[in-house]
Amino acid sequence: MELRKEYDLICVGAGIMSATLALLVKQLKPDLNVLIVERLDKVAQESSAAWNNAGTGHSALCELNYTPEDEDGHVKIKKAINICTQFETSKQYWSFLVAEGLIKDPKSFITPVPHHSWVKGKDNADYLENRFKAFKEHFMFNTIEFTREVEKMQQWFPLMMHNRTEDEVMAASRIDRGTEMNYGSLTAQLFDILEKQYDTKVLFNTEVEDIDPDHDVEWLVKMENLNTGAKNTVDAEHVFIGAGGGSLLLLQKVEIDEKDGYGGFPVSGEWLVCKNPDIINQHNAKVYSKAGIGDPPMSVPHLDTRFINGKRELLFGPFAGFSPKFLKEGSYLDLLKSINFDNIPSMWGVFWHNLPLTKYLVEQVAMSFEDRMDSLRVFLKDAKSEDWEIMVAGQRVQTIKKDEFEGGSLEFGTQLVSSKDGRITCLLGASPGASTSVKIMLDVLEKAFPELTTSEKGKEQLSKMVPFYKKEVTKELFDAQLERVTQVLEL
Ligand SMILES: Cc1cc2nc3c(=O)[nH]c(=O)nc-3n(C[C@H](O)[C@H](O)[C@H](O)COP(=O)(O)OP(=O)(O)OC[C@H]3O[C@@H](n4cnc5c(N)ncnc54)[C@H](O)[C@@H]3O)c2cc1C
Repeated sequence: MELRKEYDLICVGAGIMSATLALLVKQLKPDLNVLIVERLDKVAQESSAAWNNAGTGHSALCELNYTPEDEDGHVKIKKAINICTQFETSKQYWSFLVAEGLIKDPKSFITPVPHHSWVKGKDNADYLENRFKAFKEHFMFNTIEFTREVEKMQQWFPLMMHNRTEDEVMAASRIDRGTEMNYGSLTAQLFDILEKQYDTKVLFNTEVEDIDPDHDVEWLVKMENLNTGAKNTVDAEHVFIGAGGGSLLLLQKVEIDEKDGYGGFPVSGEWLVCKNPDIINQHNAKVYSKAGIGDPPMSVPHLDTRFINGKRELLFGPFAGFSPKFLKEGSYLDLLKSINFDNIPSMWGVFWHNLPLTKYLVEQVAMSFEDRMDSLRVFLKDAKSEDWEIMVAGQRVQTIKKDEFEGGSLEFGTQLVSSKDGRITCLLGASPGASTSVKIMLDVLEKAFPELTTSEKGKEQLSKMVPFYKKEVTKELFDAQLERVTQVLEL
């Protein structure tokens, strides 16, 4: 592939984030020159690959970590409203691509699968009922159902109700409009549109090694072809570091003040994946439970129907593990390389103030296959070991940030770090991730290309692509858009 001397935008990494940003930019101003640089030989091979994430369309319909309870037992739903709005924003953009004929078959990446929360024990059941009551009053969640009856749960997720005894206290809720996502397939299709419609290509097998400021242009992006060892430097007006787990190591090399104090802690993951089609076909649900006390939000166990490459699958997890790599295809030196004079206080602060997390990780790493099967048996009492196998999930790098009081804090969400003028932005963190990619990339767009988002033409185009853009989401707007998008995406 022949490189230009200068680009308007270089995106590092060919995952869902770079794909979304590059496509938004090209749709708003097709004559901008955009290059995507990827160290592997295909797109969507790290966190965005279908088997590397759980494929949940995170919209807070079932994930209990978005609805904490206050001291008086009131369930707070503000975070849930925010996540739900962001996922609907993503769905609106994807439905725009389908309506424009740019994505042919929505079933290739999105499938309706009801979302459930399921808990055991009286206190948890009471919490779930309070959450149900709070949800019932809000238009985003008012289709929620709740039950403490085993019979009802047998209709919702029969496989999980085999061999249950009368004395088990359980409760569950359900929202029908949940989704199962194949983010890998979606990402590949976004890159396909970029190449076919906008002549925007991915430079494969090429690792970005450094990004330096320059007087004449904004940034010099230094890269190496990993097959030939050839080095190259390309100019860019804007850079987006969407390198997933690899973002932190690159950010640390960029000379901007905003990067100071950031560190990262890698957490690897594993799933139990079902091999028995008879079992797989008996479950049609995503069922999220509660994380253990003191366990991090990403440890919430769930049993999920998946649709990957046209095949129904069943996945349970995640189980956390430890690997010093920042990417699944990364280096064992990644963690060591990320520790420097600037972030030692934040890293130490996080370690010292999060000892339960360390304990959780140590326990998870020590789990045998049978221990994992026992965790699954909390969901499926009669799960047989021969029906399940372990699969390695994607690698997460939890962001560590400077904190005035504790030295450092551990962030579980995504974090944008930008230079003041917005010409370079880096995305750190992984959750809720791909589901909210459109909202996050609209934020990057506003910072990096304000002229595209504030012009009359740009505003008009954006509200066509994403009707929620810059609007107050009222019940009327929400209901109308939900109905429209449901039809276009064939949900
Ligand atoms: C276990 C797990 C479960 C998850 N579950 C969900 C879920 O259910 N729902 C959801 O919405 N999200 C989920 N996520 C999060 C979601 O997968 C991520 O937020 C999303 O895929 C991140 O996309 P990305 O484009 O930022 O990164 P990635 O998809 O990781 O892409 C980054 C790319 O950058 C490349 N790269 C790295 N360094 C360099 C370099 N120096 N030069 C060139 N290329 C480079 C990598 O090879 C990679 O291809 C999950 C994540 C994990 C790990």
